[in-house]
Parts: sequence; structure tokens; C-alpha cells
Amino acid sequence: MSVRDLIILGCSSQQPTRRRNHGAYLLRWNEEGLLFDPGEGTQRQFIFANVAPPCVNRIFVSHFHGDHCLGLGSMLMRLNLDKVTHPIHCYYPASGKKYFDRLRYGTIYHETIEVIEHPVSEEGLVHDDGKFQIEAYYLKHGVDNLGWRIKEPDVRKFEKEKLDALGVKGPLVRELTEQGKLILGGKTIILDDVSHIRQGDVFAIVIDTLPCPNAIKVAKNAKLLLCEATYLEEHKDLAKEYRHMTAKQAATIAKEAGAKQLILTHFSARYQDLRGFLEEARTIFPNTEVAEDLKYFDFPR
Ligand SMILES: [Zn+2]
Ligand SMILES: [Zn+2]
Repeated sequence: MSVRDLIILGCSSQQPTRRRNHGAYLLRWNEEGLLFDPGEGTQRQFIFANVAPPCVNRIFVSHFHGDHCLGLGSMLMRLNLDKVTHPIHCYYPASGKKYFDRLRYGTIYHETIEVIEHPVSEEGLVHDDGKFQIEAYYLKHGVDNLGWRIKEPDVRKFEKEKLDALGVKGPLVRELTEQGKLILGGKTIILDDVSHIRQGDVFAIVIDTLPCPNAIKVAKNAKLLLCEATYLEEHKDLAKEYRHMTAKQAATIAKEAGAKQLILTHFSARYQDLRGFLEEARTIFPNTEVAEDLKYFDFPR
């Protein structure tokens, strides 16, 4: 089975600190690398994380505040330098097209990689290429900002012992799949009796927003929710003023959405110790962790 994990390349908010780089998150999933919000210095964080940049297939930019995109240009240039042969899909809010172009073409370089842009101008399903279904919904941050909800396809899993016992193999399995049933030796075999559908997992990312219904929509039943918690409840007035969330608010979203696991990130530079975030969130949503630069989180099936 291919590797499935989330690597935190940075977890600061606007200002990086000694311990926290600007945000950037790499999700390795189904043979692909999905990179979210590459902030300044992302390229170098790959080195510290022991990951080679060419694993990136898709780049998502939630919005064009600097801490979420200043590493975009250098990441594209790096992929160019590494001569990646696969296309790089880039997803971002359509209203930020001019920033995207500036970042992509900010310096002299001869572009040879294939970049496929997906500027998002309408909420909902943005892209479905059979590998992932990508949905985006606007959050509440004062600028166009998207939360991403990414789902892998459902797959039918056969129960091998049952197939063996019935003597169904090879092309017969395909026939059974296509027709829903199969007559073998005078017996009718029903597809659903020998198999079941395994629901694809959902990864959700909600970064830079006030609490809002769309944040819950993005996170609905997510296996893993990566969510901003810039502040603690004691600074909830600041959270409101700057259109961010507290750990408690992020945990409430995870709970209301029925998510399985929550990882908090995008911490204000004012906090050195993040234990308060864990404590605050866990009173509402126990299965919470806090991001840390270069930390790997499993994203198990
Ligand atoms: Zn931010
Ligand atoms: Zn922002």
C-alpha cells in the first residue's frame, strides 16, 4: 500500500517564529502529493522533512495572503528544475488570478513543466479526475478564501473466500461487476452478496476563517480535518477582529461536522507553548492534535 500521511512543513500564521515556518502542508495519498498553501520557505522545509519535491502533483492555495502563497513561485520553479514530467494541477480562488500569475512568473526562468490551472469561481465540485473529487467552499475571512474537501473514490471490495468457494475468478469477476449478477453452474450469484463498497476517505482543510456553516460543510465526516486555530479563547476578540478562530471554535467545527480527527495549525506567533491549544480543543473534541513543523501524521485507511 502506498504511503498515506500528512506532513507539516510549517504551521505559523502571518509571522514565522524560530520554531514555526510559514504554513505548508503535504498530504501523500494514493501515489500523489497534494501540497496546500505553500508559504515562504516551503522548498527548504521539504529538505528538512526528507521529502523530494517532485512528489507534488497538486497545489492548493486557499487565498492570496502572503503566508499562504509566497512559496508558490519557488515551488513551481523547483519542480521545473527537477524536470518533473507529470502535470501540476493548481487550484486557487479565481479572483486571485493576478496574484497567481505574479507568483508563477515572478522571476526569470524557462518553464518546461505542465501547469494545469483550476481557478475556482463557483463553490462545489471543482475537479473530479477519477483519482480525487475536489470540492471547494468559500470561508469567511474578508477576502476570497476556499476550504478544500477532497475525497478518494469509493471502491468495491470482493470477499475473496466467498468468490473462491463459488469458483468465481478471472473474467467472471469482471462480468459479475458489470452485470451485478452471474449465473454459474445453475446458481445465481449476486454482486452485493460477495462484495461491499468501501467508502473513500475525506481530507478537509479549513484555514483562515471565522466559524461559518461552510467550514462545517467542508469538514463533514472527514477522516482528517486540518483546521486553523490562530488563537486561544482568551484572545477570542482578536480572533474575531482578524477573522480567525480559536482552538475551541475549531474543535466545535470538528465536532459538528462529525470529523474523525482534528489537527490544529496556523498558530499566532504570540504563543510559544501550544499545550493550551490541545487542552482547549480536547475538552470539546478529544481526538485533536497540534501541528508542529516537520511532524508526520498518519492518514490511515
Ligand atoms: Zn494566514
Ligand atoms: Zn489570511
